[in-house]
Amino acid sequence: MSHQKLSIESKCIHAGIGEYEYGPVVPPIYQTSTFKFQSVEHGAKLFKGEENGYIYTRMGNPTIEAMENAVAELEGGYKSLGCASGMAAIHTTLATFLVSGEHVIVSESVYGPTATLIKNVLSRYGIESDFVETANLDKVKNAVKPNTKMIFIETPGNPTLETTDIQTVAEIAHENGARLVVDNTFMSPVLQRPFELGADVVVHSMTKFLNGHADVVAGIIVTKDEETYASLRKMLNQLGGTIDPFNAFLVHRGLKTLALRMKKHCENAQKIAEFLEAHPKVEWVRYPGLKSFPYYETAQKQHYGPGGMISFELKGGLEAGAKMMNSVKLCQLAVSLGGVETLIQHPATMTHASMGKEAREAAGITDGLVRLSVGIENVDELIEDLNQAME
Ligand SMILES: *Cc1c(COP(=O)(O)O)cnc(C)c1O
Repeated sequence: MSHQKLSIESKCIHAGIGEYEYGPVVPPIYQTSTFKFQSVEHGAKLFKGEENGYIYTRMGNPTIEAMENAVAELEGGYKSLGCASGMAAIHTTLATFLVSGEHVIVSESVYGPTATLIKNVLSRYGIESDFVETANLDKVKNAVKPNTKMIFIETPGNPTLETTDIQTVAEIAHENGARLVVDNTFMSPVLQRPFELGADVVVHSMTKFLNGHADVVAGIIVTKDEETYASLRKMLNQLGGTIDPFNAFLVHRGLKTLALRMKKHCENAQKIAEFLEAHPKVEWVRYPGLKSFPYYETAQKQHYGPGGMISFELKGGLEAGAKMMNSVKLCQLAVSLGGVETLIQHPATMTHASMGKEAREAAGITDGLVRLSVGIENVDELIEDLNQAME
């Protein structure tokens, strides 16, 4: 049955499921590194691409492919490539489309290790970069150079939730012969589908919402045509950052509840953001579902829901924030995000420590900023916990 017309909720359940021996309703775990050929001739045909089939798991595996097809379908893309981590997906994408002497424009509030990879590693291979506030479209236009081949945005940004207008940035990229890559980790395809807005490649850390259960590290690159897919496939085979079948199985299992989970993340986060905004000890709150959100218009235009991520600062800054983070009981003090459990963390000393204070300040990451990844627990109990921790 074609899933084209199905809702995202139904796609989550059925996407990527094929036909397998004995008729299981979920894809079996083909936990094998290699696949037997029927003959020398058969092996040769597989290697030449004259026949479809599997050779070696780094190059393809049915369990991995089932999950890849599911994510591609949810994003409205063509095919995707499962990776060992979000960073493997990002590295593979950058290495595929940028060569020495080319330039990439990157969102200033990008995930810390993405920034470090571009600034400290890819720079050694002659790749030039500029980090700009991509929510400001003039700044994006002004950053374009004759050798700009890619714009890499993360929206909403981490942890400031700075929201970039995907459609307009796609236009800027295409007018200048560059590709637009979007890190869609914070929203998932349930809440934001960058291909609908003109993106060329979508990447995710599936460690976060897509898997959703804090028990897998994985990433994915989603493409929208065969040419892009084939170049990425070749590079991933060389770089080797492929996902393994068991993790692919777990992610595919997580995807089934993605729409359900995202709905609950949004409901809970909206209530918590409103609670925080009304609390006398809170200096400011940023959440795409609040009217006070600085990028409210853009968020309304391109999101199917406000998401599960909140950033805020207490009056009394870092000291008050630290006290609160040390006093939570139901919320857990840990990095990562997008899981069923509520996590609280401090970007300046944790996820964004490696950026350095200057770069953090430029990106709006104050020392007192607290990041909350709202889970799917009972929201009244979460609010009670945050409240007691602030007292
Ligand atoms: C976590 C994260 C990554 C990196 O993913 P890993 O799976 O940890 O390698 C990239 N981008 C964003 C937005 C993330 O939150």
